[in-house]
Amino acid sequence: MSTFEIEHQIYEGKAKKIFATNDDFKVVMEFKNDLTAFNALKKGQFEGKGELNCEISTLIFKEIAKHKISLHWIETFEKNKMLVQKTEIIPLEVVVRNRIAGSLAKKFKMPEGEVLKLALLEFYYKNDELQDPFVSDDQIIAFGWSTAADLAIVKKITLQINEILKDIFKKCGLSLVDFKIEFGKLPSGEIILADEISPDSMRLWDSVTNEKMDKDRFRFDLGDVKTGYQTILNKLKEVLS
Ligand code: UDP
Repeated sequence: MSTFEIEHQIYEGKAKKIFATNDDFKVVMEFKNDLTAFNALKKGQFEGKGELNCEISTLIFKEIAKHKISLHWIETFEKNKMLVQKTEIIPLEVVVRNRIAGSLAKKFKMPEGEVLKLALLEFYYKNDELQDPFVSDDQIIAFGWSTAADLAIVKKITLQINEILKDIFKKCGLSLVDFKIEFGKLPSGEIILADEISPDSMRLWDSVTNEKMDKDRFRFDLGDVKTGYQTILNKLKEVLS
């Protein structure tokens, strides 16, 4: 366990707070109990949600680290707090879809659940005011949000992470329908996985019953949200122990 001191809050988002530390290269990420959906039009929260997401993210980050993928996570030192590398976030939501669901199903009027012919990688520009619009690779490069070389690295790492996650969740008896990740760039130029990987940003369905265990329970009032998140954590602990 490293020694550091938590200083002032730098940022508060919908589900997390970021604090400076006495180390210029490290920040603390605190997971909140708040839940939002539909661009924050729907708001909620439940006791223990921050801790559940922090623990789920921690377990997943540890697995990803085993595959020599660089990530911002350093250590989880409290139930809802991680020490992470300070990084400049690339302003993209990187989405991978294995099956049709959510906005894709809506946009193309396709039934949810169909398995896609390839892992579909999509980029959305992180901008609340614009409601995170879909962007093409060329738009990303033309607008200067990333370079072609960095984007190629982001794609490669993302597809690798998809394989790692699919494998873990298959063992849990869960189908990884889709997920969103974010990346940062260190002053050295290195691209690292940032943000979180939790049921807030993934769709996970029971492999047998197709029951939704993730944030869709909150979005569409499908059942107790905490039970869904707790089930995911329990299954992860079982297969990763
Ligand atoms: N997602 C996310 N944050 C967003 C938008 C999407 O974490 O701001 C996740 C979402 O939980 C799902 C995947 O990315 O696992 C694909 O989301 P989709 O485009 O279907 O949008 P949604 O209908 O979930 O807003």
